[in-house]
Amino acid sequence: MNSIYFSPETDAFRVRTRRFLCERIAPHLEAWESERRIPRDAWKLLAEEGLLGLHYPSAYGGRELPFFHSVAYLEELGRLGHSGFRGAMSVHSYMATTYLQLAGDHHQKLEYLKPAIQGDKIAALAITEPQAGSDVSSIRCEARAMSVGDRYSIRGSKAFVTNGLNADFMVTAVRMSDGSAASTGSGDICLFVVDARAPGVTRTPVEKVGWHCSDTASVQFEDVVVETGQLLGRRNTGFFWIMKAFQLERIAAALLALGEIDYALELARRYANEREVFGKTIAGHQVIRHRLAELMSHTEAARQLTYHAAWLHSQGKSAVSQCAMAKLRATELAVEVAGQCLQIFGGHGYLSEAPISRVFRDTRLGTIAGGTSEIMREIIAETEL
Ligand SMILES: Cc1cc2nc3c(=O)[nH]c(=O)nc-3n(C[C@H](O)[C@H](O)[C@H](O)COP(=O)(O)OP(=O)(O)OC[C@H]3O[C@@H](n4cnc5c(N)ncnc54)[C@H](O)[C@@H]3O)c2cc1C
Repeated sequence: MNSIYFSPETDAFRVRTRRFLCERIAPHLEAWESERRIPRDAWKLLAEEGLLGLHYPSAYGGRELPFFHSVAYLEELGRLGHSGFRGAMSVHSYMATTYLQLAGDHHQKLEYLKPAIQGDKIAALAITEPQAGSDVSSIRCEARAMSVGDRYSIRGSKAFVTNGLNADFMVTAVRMSDGSAASTGSGDICLFVVDARAPGVTRTPVEKVGWHCSDTASVQFEDVVVETGQLLGRRNTGFFWIMKAFQLERIAAALLALGEIDYALELARRYANEREVFGKTIAGHQVIRHRLAELMSHTEAARQLTYHAAWLHSQGKSAVSQCAMAKLRATELAVEVAGQCLQIFGGHGYLSEAPISRVFRDTRLGTIAGGTSEIMREIIAETEL
């Protein structure tokens, strides 16, 4: 790839990763999609290729590679064209486990991060609640100190937990309660790493429009006992860590969307060059050629914006606005590209079995999950105005 951001090593890594994903993962995706599950072996396969810990420290089994290896990996994951799969893997490596790396102590990293990198434990992130999504500071799930020992009891509900059924542990946002009137705001939010099979945890699958192979669950916590050792970071610092981790989450969402756009454009490009109407290929008609050219130029602009945000992030620089811009641009573009590419397929694109119809369903989630487009615009306005 001819880019200032990628070295020959990252390019070689990208080629190897693409080959691995195409040969070892892609052949199974249709089956996993219709079975509505991803087998645990898939995490193990990716771990054996070293893909679950690219940016994590070697002390916990990671590879400590420069961040643009992750950039290449996330784009390649998106290019598989199955958002459910990329959703499951990116939540595992770039969302849930981020909190262990940022706020976890050595013991917690050995207990949870290391096995996650090795593909032995599956991670989920439980922040959203039935009544609290965009407004994280209004979560109600609470933890109360128990009278015996260094323990807390968690009670409440979480919604839309990706990997919720498969997970071995869930990084869970709760409000620390002292038993008095329910508190509000962000000051007393804490993060616990909760074992998904602990007594009192109930996980219920939810059906979705797309992302079929990815399992999504509602989770109920009924007096789930956790030890002090499961608290990530200091008490009442959860909101700070969530806001910090959201930057990486948004870069990842943008990169995955760009991969999906590449996949959709490639499907449309091939079809437009094969299918003939009125005596020439569809791509031979100027309106279609220009539409594809337009989408490709928007893609390049969104890609450069995202690489810039990723570069700022990799340099440890503040990039709140750029991460939000990248997520906004890339995920909204993915929705547009999916719709325009489906149009190029005509009626054939509207069949359930057509890959482009899956992309059409799946990309729709991009502007909602991990912070909606409205929230991205709000962040940009707050930072820039
Ligand atoms: C398949 C799937 C997987 C998910 N995975 C996870 C996961 O693993 N972990 C997790 O914690 N969450 C997960 N989520 C939740 C996701 O992040 C939330 O759905 C998202 O943050 C939006 O929250 P909400 O659905 O409660 O919408 P709401 O916050 O209720 O928003 C509803 C609408 O109001 C708009 N809105 C909200 N606030 C404003 C405002 N200030 N100004 C203007 N408009 C506003 C929103 O943009 C949206 O259009 C997942 C969701 C789905 C569907």
